[in-house]
Amino acid sequence: MLHTLSIGELGRSLNSGQISSVELTRHFLTRIERLNPAMNALITLTAEQALAAAAAADARRAAGEQGPLLGIPLIHKDIFCTDGVRTSCGSRMLDNFIAPYDATVVARLKAAGTVMLGKANMDEFAMGSSNETSYYGPVKNGTSCADASAGVMSAAAATAARLAPFATGTDTGGSIRQPAALTGVTGVKPTYGRVSRYGMIAFASSLDQAGVFAHSAADAAIVLQAMAGFDPRDSTSIDAPVPDYPAALEKPLTGLKIGLLREFFDDLEARNSALIHDALKIYRSLGAETVEVSLPHLPLSVPTYYVVAPAECSSNLSRFDGVRFGYRCESPKDLLDLYTRSRGEGFGAEVKRRIMTGTYVLSAGYFDAYYLKAQKVRRLITDDFRAAFAHVDLLIGPTTPTPAFAIGAKINDPVTMYLNDIYTIGANLAGLPGLSLPCGFVEGLPMGLQLIGPHFSESKLLNAAHRFQEATDWHRRSPRGYE
Ligand code: GLN
Repeated sequence: MLHTLSIGELGRSLNSGQISSVELTRHFLTRIERLNPAMNALITLTAEQALAAAAAADARRAAGEQGPLLGIPLIHKDIFCTDGVRTSCGSRMLDNFIAPYDATVVARLKAAGTVMLGKANMDEFAMGSSNETSYYGPVKNGTSCADASAGVMSAAAATAARLAPFATGTDTGGSIRQPAALTGVTGVKPTYGRVSRYGMIAFASSLDQAGVFAHSAADAAIVLQAMAGFDPRDSTSIDAPVPDYPAALEKPLTGLKIGLLREFFDDLEARNSALIHDALKIYRSLGAETVEVSLPHLPLSVPTYYVVAPAECSSNLSRFDGVRFGYRCESPKDLLDLYTRSRGEGFGAEVKRRIMTGTYVLSAGYFDAYYLKAQKVRRLITDDFRAAFAHVDLLIGPTTPTPAFAIGAKINDPVTMYLNDIYTIGANLAGLPGLSLPCGFVEGLPMGLQLIGPHFSESKLLNAAHRFQEATDWHRRSPRGYE
């Protein structure tokens, strides 16, 4: 069962010559062929390129190289530009867009010897919480919950279904942590600036951050190690050394101070809250100390985000004008007709809603009341986190308010959909790293535990998640239908 092995185990099998990358790649391609048609998790398959990359990785290994990701297959979210391969961002607007270069994340993972199997479906321009805004249709979250949506994007569902050992993702308001929670995988959203955004199609530039879906914190540490680091082509990327993430995994948690986010428990359903409290018991048994902390402005994060993110999106998406990238309407009458029809036909309803909201909050007369106010509240939320981290090492809480919900359940009610993000967007507004790890099931559906740390505390988050995963086996339990 090659698809159940960890990245570490796969690396050892490759190094010992027990398997080759070409065999491993074939194994996953066969699995994708069998499972993907019903799931709709991948919208572009790159089988031929994958086998060529696998052969190249085998040759590098034969020549003496031994990287931890050399020859390991992966899936990229279709928001990352991939040289010569369609990069649609889940939109009709880019349905015919072949990226002319690799995003830095893609280039770094390619240099590490990974093998891209294909590109994952996603909400259009990453706007949504259930993959239902995709031009390519929703993703089925495994066969056990045939109608339950995957939550935001399929790279998580693809990892959960073991279509690849890991996948890349992006998190603007929770799109790594939420889908990880809802599909039972480990998801890491690094500190803003830790991973380059170059070549990652922009949604809200001050919030977007690339990260990883994997089966364990140990696997995620290996992947993040390869992704992270300064990139002169991203002006917000941080020029600071990247710590050795795998080396920090085993540190004992004795004396670790974990803050329980009071505001996250106010309206949390009892069964979700029980799972978090069980997790806290584990942490205490591992030597950590838990205290309650309050972040009074945190409940304002949903309205704040839904002003800031649309504002940035309305600006970023102005580049899709029917002239330079992707979709262009048929026989435009004049330039204005070209712009309006290309954008009108190329974008879906949610993207249009965001562009209109964003344009409104930025327009003269409304700017101070909405955009400026939101930026001020954003600062207050950031200050709350800063104050909390003066007393605790990490914050803990749920990742999502509910397990995966049925396709169609919330799509016609944008505000209800936006409320899914209640626990995740605080970390985005403050630029903090967050991690979601499986902590149990509610009615057979996986739930996640969220850890949030100070800026650049990825080592600590991965360490805390790894120790939890050594003491529990939630991350090893495949939700039904994912075997
Ligand atoms: N659900 C949020 C939104 O629609 C977050 C999406 C994301 O992180 N990409 O904006």
